[in-house]
Amino acid sequence: MAAADAYQKISQELESDGDPCCDLGSYTAIKMLPEANKIVAENMGKNLINQHEYPQTTVIHNKLVEEIAELLHAPNYSDALGCSTSGSSEAVAIAMLAHKWLWLDRKDRKGSPNIVICSNAHLCWRKFALYFRIDVREVALTEPGLYPLQQMIDQVDNNTICVVAVLGSTYTGFCDPVAALNDALLLLNKSRGWNVGIHVDGAIGGFVLPFLPEASLPAWDFTLPLVRSINLSGHKFGLVYPGLGWLVFRNKALLSAQLSLTSSYLSGDSQSFAITFSRSASLVIAQYFNFLHYGRNGYRRVMERCLLNANYFAEKLVKTDLFELVCDLRLPVVTFRFKRSSDFSEAEFTKQLRVKGWMLPCYQMPVNIPQIVMRVVVREDMVQAKLLRLVNDMKETYQALL
Ligand SMILES: *Cc1c(COP(=O)(O)O)cnc(C)c1O
Repeated sequence: MAAADAYQKISQELESDGDPCCDLGSYTAIKMLPEANKIVAENMGKNLINQHEYPQTTVIHNKLVEEIAELLHAPNYSDALGCSTSGSSEAVAIAMLAHKWLWLDRKDRKGSPNIVICSNAHLCWRKFALYFRIDVREVALTEPGLYPLQQMIDQVDNNTICVVAVLGSTYTGFCDPVAALNDALLLLNKSRGWNVGIHVDGAIGGFVLPFLPEASLPAWDFTLPLVRSINLSGHKFGLVYPGLGWLVFRNKALLSAQLSLTSSYLSGDSQSFAITFSRSASLVIAQYFNFLHYGRNGYRRVMERCLLNANYFAEKLVKTDLFELVCDLRLPVVTFRFKRSSDFSEAEFTKQLRVKGWMLPCYQMPVNIPQIVMRVVVREDMVQAKLLRLVNDMKETYQALL
């Protein structure tokens, strides 16, 4: 097939895909600026792992890690350690391995390692715990915004490789109270002579809260002494296309030297503790573009606008008298449910809404919360006019089903 024909054929096949602009539940960025697209396309063929061939890309990568460590208030960011990944899930996998290795290196260990998570955590935690044979101690949430702090602490023991705090939850955007968790763990460690730390899953909030000084309180990052590692999704509110995450450790001592391997198949050595080898360098370069173009003030303006629009949407939604909120809007995530029981299900409602092009997810909340909720992530592209159209379409669809 000629290239032009293949292009045409594929374009036609893809026409029945949904439009990413109407993918309401997705956290990942869908559009970048034309200049970013240009630099992404120009660097697509560079392999990030070939550090010797692309030394300048490696310099940029390491500079970004240092800037993110600084953004997250690592106490001594030249001693912080980090890397880019294919997303938060890879970052979570590496963090879990690193914390397991610290446990393995301990002379006094007996029994098996565990992590303590709350049921609002992302599935990737259970997935990698299964792969790496780490016991999962999951504390059930009984109400969306009610964090079971004491139950979390009660699950911790000397074999807990880390306690996971989520900022915010994929289900609702609620943020775990990391500062309170840190304080409670400090007391526990002190009374028992343990050394249990925290990993913060900042896949969603990691690129939002640092830019909003008021909203970043109380502290949740490396300013808290027990926070040892943090992951962020560059491709969520980091505003880069899907395929980019970041992992940062508080200091180099947290990664066992055994986990940082050197490959030498190319013209020089490449050192990495990421799980994947080959990846395009272009998304890392796209993150660099955003840092230069937006800067901290630019990111702040984007996040403030997303929050403003999220509040706007939430208000319109409540005004319909058909829906009620299940979120606190600390992050630009609007989760809601039907206000009254109806003859039709949430699934039927979202299916009907799809006719108008909107893709609205509806899903069961974590165990012990018998609720079906729907979610709109108010990304950068969700401007007020679009959100207003959405509310009107939702109202019409709902009424047509009555
Ligand atoms: C999205 C998400 C993940 C998984 O990250 P990917 O970037 O999709 O790999 C992990 N944790 C939370 C809280 C998330 O929202």
